Amino acid sequence: MSTHRAVLIPGDGIGPEVTGAVLRVLQAAGAPLEWEEHVAGVTALERGEDVLPEETVDAIRRLGVALKGPCTTPVGEGFTSVNVQLRKRLNLYAAVRPVRSLDGVKTRFEDVDLVIIRENTEGLYSGVENQVTDDVVMSMKVATETACTRIARWAFRYATRRDRKKITVFHKANIMKVTDGLFLRCAREIHKAEYPNIEYDEVIIDAGCMKLVQNPGQFDVLLLENLYGDVVSDLCAGLVGGLGVVPGANIGEEQAVFEAVHGSAPDIAGQGVANPLALLMSAVMLLNYLAETRGDDVCREVAGRIRVAYDRALADGAKTRDLGGELGTDTFADAIIERLDN
Ligand code: ATP
Repeated sequence: MSTHRAVLIPGDGIGPEVTGAVLRVLQAAGAPLEWEEHVAGVTALERGEDVLPEETVDAIRRLGVALKGPCTTPVGEGFTSVNVQLRKRLNLYAAVRPVRSLDGVKTRFEDVDLVIIRENTEGLYSGVENQVTDDVVMSMKVATETACTRIARWAFRYATRRDRKKITVFHKANIMKVTDGLFLRCAREIHKAEYPNIEYDEVIIDAGCMKLVQNPGQFDVLLLENLYGDVVSDLCAGLVGGLGVVPGANIGEEQAVFEAVHGSAPDIAGQGVANPLALLMSAVMLLNYLAETRGDDVCREVAGRIRVAYDRALADGAKTRDLGGELGTDTFADAIIERLDN
């Protein structure tokens, strides 16, 4: 059996706790992974390195995949967000966040099964902000035909491969006619020219948010530009139990970084109560990505067993505090390990 080397960034805040729990589950399940550990964020700064060390970026370039815990970027001048830098430097242009209802996690809805695909490199995350006069500041929303077409094509290809039926673009092209207008035009063109097999729909984002909280079951794949994707991801996390249960992947042509949607949660860091599930689900996505891109069926099989085990744990009522349970980070990981069919 071959082993895949991958970069591990434990991160800070709750990062090291949830990472430790996830590594135990992966090892118990026999995941064919070998880790090369690197730092970013405050952990890197504390070691006198850059907020995103060159060595960390190079390692991801070299190994192709990374599992990343949350990394805090210090607030203040001079530091660009680690996450934003990483996505831009490695051109990880597609953020993917599957959001689904889980047995045993009681929420308002039971039938949520949607995937958010977010453009990860431009929009209001361009980082171009100016002080125009003493009174006026501005932030530049950037859209390029290249990036809009690229994310649209990625989304339709994803939907086709995963047997999804419909893509809905959330937009505000009635106000931002040029930028969101371009995003829509590119999506329409890709749909028409390359993927007429997938149903395609457009919804103005404010109405879309209302529809999401009324009946999320009506949506399948959502395609959004950068900032809308950020906001709607957290909204959708709330539909299925919160940030503790939503994984994520940032994918480019050559590399992919897998990380939970949540941040470093300083309010609960160090207490051993954080939910490791979002990062574990991200690790399952990493295994499935290796299965798809490197044709390794062992990765797919291990990913499937881990998923069954955490579904069982939740259905049996084994839950962390954020989901209304009483288990800590490690005891929840134990509950998953006990349910692994090895
Ligand atoms: P960022 O800006 O990096 O997204 P944030 O401070 O806005 O970070 P989070 O760090 O994600 O947001 O935390 C938001 C809330 O969700 C906090 O109250 C935190 O305790 C809770 N939370 C986040 N992740 C988890 C988790 N894995 N388990 C339990 N609670 C969590």
